[in-house]
Amino acid sequence: MTLMRLQNFACGKWVSSRGTPRPIYGATDGAKIAEAGSDGLDFQKMIEFATRTGGPALREMTFHDRARRLKALALYLQERRTQLYQLSTLTGATLSDSKIDIDGGIGTMLVFASKGRREMPDSHVYLDGPVEHLSRAGSFLGQHVATPLRGVAVHINAFNFPVWGMLEKLAPSLLAGVPAIVKPATATSYLTEACMRLMDESGIFPAGAFQLIVGGTGNLLDLLGPQDIVSFTGSAQTSLMLRTNPNIPKNGVRFLAEQDSLNASVLGPDVTPDSPEFDLFIKEAVREMTAKAGQKCTAIRRMIVPDKMLAPLGEAIAAKLARTVIGNPAERATQMGALASAAQKADVLAQVQKFSGEVTRLYGDPEGFEVVGADRDKGAFLPPMLFVCADPDGASKVHEVEAFGPVATLMPYRDLSHAAALMNRGGGSLVGSVITHDPAVAREITLASAAWHGRLYFNDRDSMGESTGHGSPLPHMVHGGPGRAGGGEELGGIRGVLHYMQRTAIQGSPRMLTEIGGVWVKGAETPKPPAHPFTLGYDELQIGHSITTEAREVTLADIEHFAAFTGDMFYAHMDDEAARANPFFPGRVAHGYLLLSFAAGLFVEPNPGPVLANTGLNGLHFQKPVSPGDRIYVRLTVARKTPRTAEYGEVRWAVTVFNQENEEVAEYELLTMVACGRQVR
Ligand code: NAP
Repeated sequence: MTLMRLQNFACGKWVSSRGTPRPIYGATDGAKIAEAGSDGLDFQKMIEFATRTGGPALREMTFHDRARRLKALALYLQERRTQLYQLSTLTGATLSDSKIDIDGGIGTMLVFASKGRREMPDSHVYLDGPVEHLSRAGSFLGQHVATPLRGVAVHINAFNFPVWGMLEKLAPSLLAGVPAIVKPATATSYLTEACMRLMDESGIFPAGAFQLIVGGTGNLLDLLGPQDIVSFTGSAQTSLMLRTNPNIPKNGVRFLAEQDSLNASVLGPDVTPDSPEFDLFIKEAVREMTAKAGQKCTAIRRMIVPDKMLAPLGEAIAAKLARTVIGNPAERATQMGALASAAQKADVLAQVQKFSGEVTRLYGDPEGFEVVGADRDKGAFLPPMLFVCADPDGASKVHEVEAFGPVATLMPYRDLSHAAALMNRGGGSLVGSVITHDPAVAREITLASAAWHGRLYFNDRDSMGESTGHGSPLPHMVHGGPGRAGGGEELGGIRGVLHYMQRTAIQGSPRMLTEIGGVWVKGAETPKPPAHPFTLGYDELQIGHSITTEAREVTLADIEHFAAFTGDMFYAHMDDEAARANPFFPGRVAHGYLLLSFAAGLFVEPNPGPVLANTGLNGLHFQKPVSPGDRIYVRLTVARKTPRTAEYGEVRWAVTVFNQENEEVAEYELLTMVACGRQVR
């Protein structure tokens, strides 16, 4: 194949290195396949291009604009992903490994696109939490808001996920409105480069939204300022070196780290060889050892099992590993491909050597294993290697040394607290799993161990049909872990977006908060709409548009009718003496649901119009009981608008029900879908 001469994408142009590039070798045959280098790049100019061109263009868009572009970009890549699969084979990845990387990255982008539309506003300010009441009368309030950082995000990625690694960081960064400079690990940067070329060709994001460095980052980190962020994935050693760059603490540059991790999987004490969880444990264990040839930051490195299960499990896992076909990743029969490079293979063997004094080998001889469709000695092949550590309390290296390949160690535990203690000896990990059918085991492990893990994964016969696997970080859930794992956090839905934003506490009057956040805050102005708001289309409705209804009396006959009609004969509505004995009621009171129904009767406009449906109700509070003879009226206010499709949007209304003393008796948020045009028939 022709040698790939990789280029950097800097300041909107594809540029080659001016110096001597670094060679990159194929995983399967060790042949030189590419050259990469970044000599001659002007990193200051790249930062300026991001902050002066990319940032402003991104920030001009709303969260929804950016979410729509993310979706379009993900679909663009999805249509062209077979090109990427071909290159991915060169990294040693089988087709299913490539799907984890490429489809996984695209899928992550799609989830962020969808969450951005559903959970973020179609505006420029994200409201983080509810309004805080800071004053008695409500004229001075607080609200946390988040706005995008004004700098650049530097994304430094590990070699094992050249596409997912880039996209899982880019999606939240771009959704936040922050441009990025991506620096993939050199060993597999040809795949990242190919993916970014597609992203550039698509023209979906504006110039400066993303740039690429293939090679070293020179003085880039020295140039970062207080609005910049580094998101790093890689080894603890590199992380330490980068985060201690004096410029990082000096300028308060945010530094997120996803590092290596000695992830553990525990077999619950309830599991016996004939229970479905026994086979499930074996399946998860073998998958984690062989997928991506074990080069996953989340892979199981330590299998912690009841001592009486050590022998049967060891035998069963070894037998299954023995059936794993290792070979050329381009061939269909291959179940486990090569490691990414000869250097990586050498590193794995050197790491195994470090804990070899504490373990015995149960399976996998690096000198004696078969490879199909490729030359075993030219490619970076290794067999899965399973070890047993008989004395995990006395051992230290097995809990410390990460061999980033198809390597795991089985170890016995006495009781559950011992199992949790062993899990925690990883010093902080990305994920711990427990295969158990006993919820009490899950709870005990959570209490004893959750603080040491970024994610806990429980699996059993009930969830195994749909579970996503010990090793799969999901865009919805937090990825990252304490301590050794870096202390960072990525993904986790909109939490992941907020890492690229500044949270600011805003304090002021309801009028100020309404204008800043674009959501009506109680106490702010309530302009009178030109007509009943249910007759106005989505686009005509303004935040704060409000009506106050006529009042109606709630009679004892109404309460009795409602009770008989619905069957809700709760004593507080039916029995005066019993109601009085209750500390909350002065005597018989109206049903809360009756008040809601009367409220709707007071505020709805009955004729067909733009309001399409009532889709829900949030935050309902009954503040004061309503007694027979009380008169209630309602204030209905447009609180929040979110576009959904070209035809309609969601309108949330603040509804307050008052009594004849103007006291609030009920409050809630009403959710409706409203058509953009005035009339729908
Ligand atoms: P690595 O050697 O630490 O490299 C990580 C990244 O840092 C690469 O892009 C590397 O670029 C870059 N880098 C190295 N020195 C640098 C410097 N002086 N300035 C700027 N960048 C520098 O890790 P790796 O070998 O690629 O990946 C394997 C490790 O990553 C494993 O330990 C694994 O556990 C961890 N990992 C963690 C996660 C997670 O989410 N927590 C995910 C995947 C992998 P070059 O390639 O050009 O040196």
